[in-house]
Amino acid sequence: MEVDRTLEELKKHNLYRKLKTIERAEGVYVYINGKRFVNFSSNDYLSLAFDKRLAENHKKCLERWGSGSGAARLVTGNFTVHEELEKKLAKMKKTEAALLFTCGYMANLGILSSLLGNGDAIFSDELNHASLIDGCRLSKAKVFIYKHRDVDHLEELLKTNRSEFKTAAIVTDSVFSMDGDIAPLDKLLKLAEDYNTYLIVDDAHATGVIGNSSFDFFDIKPTERTIIMGTLGKAIGTFGAFVASTSRMKEFFVNRARTFIFTTAIPPHIACMTIKNLQEIKSRMNKLQENIELLSKLTGIKSQTAIFPLIVGDSGRTLQLSEKLLEKGFIIPAIRPPTVPEGTARLRITVAAGHTVKDIKNLSDALKTLI
Ligand SMILES: *Cc1c(COP(=O)(O)O)cnc(C)c1O
Repeated sequence: MEVDRTLEELKKHNLYRKLKTIERAEGVYVYINGKRFVNFSSNDYLSLAFDKRLAENHKKCLERWGSGSGAARLVTGNFTVHEELEKKLAKMKKTEAALLFTCGYMANLGILSSLLGNGDAIFSDELNHASLIDGCRLSKAKVFIYKHRDVDHLEELLKTNRSEFKTAAIVTDSVFSMDGDIAPLDKLLKLAEDYNTYLIVDDAHATGVIGNSSFDFFDIKPTERTIIMGTLGKAIGTFGAFVASTSRMKEFFVNRARTFIFTTAIPPHIACMTIKNLQEIKSRMNKLQENIELLSKLTGIKSQTAIFPLIVGDSGRTLQLSEKLLEKGFIIPAIRPPTVPEGTARLRITVAAGHTVKDIKNLSDALKTLI
């Protein structure tokens, strides 16, 4: 059978995936089969998702808002707390407006497929997140892939092809999810202006890490040309996502983005909890920055973000290392193709505000013994 054959093939190539079951989480510590592990693989960069000190705040949200939204935003699922959160997110990204989506994957599908279509062009970084890639496909626009962070290659593609298409967009992660490096947004914006394209930026790993917005990091002022997608399930510690741009763009997405229109609204208590968590991020961003610098110094892996890729190459060897680290009490998954390009299997280490100096030193020692 095809299903069996596929699973066998995956196992043979060390590409088979299975779920880990976590019984309990407290900050950066998780429990599996009663054993405690230090989690160095979460995207909960500000350690907000499992913080007992925030429980009182969150309980108030549940009492006030119930458990679900009951309908799509355009039906009867739009509550004051959604709009309050959207105002706060717009302020954070320094844009006129923001619009909530149920998650980042849906947001990316919605933005790309509503804004671009047949006869349009998308210029996309080769290491963009899967949700951007799927959004490009769904849009039916012609997709040009440029080499990772290579503005010269991008300009060549724009020069040769831009004029043949109506609407066009440059699409990129700001902080790349598997490498932790940062897109040259200042140069990308210049090209977007020169060639009259949108610049769509996925801030999933930038928000709360390299500032409130990757545009802030580059001192870029958002305009109608720039569309930022941010997620709430990573550093912000809740769930959901948003698009930040002008009010006119928001109006457009409300009317055209099918992943906004045809899906149940984020439960209002989640919006409420997100507002509470946003009050916490400033102080924790400083702590995260200290931890990023410490891990950089101790491991020699250079990163300005919370993501530290330790490239191993071979999938089997990466899996082995991941298992050895697990024995030593650290959760660091092996990231293999197709999540990353062939031959670049890696341990993806992420550091969070909640890690202690001791956690980071212990990890660095364990890595030195193993590698
Ligand atoms: C996680 C992630 C998404 C998807 O966001 P979800 O809210 O988890 O659906 C989109 N883009 C990037 C770069 C991500 O890392």
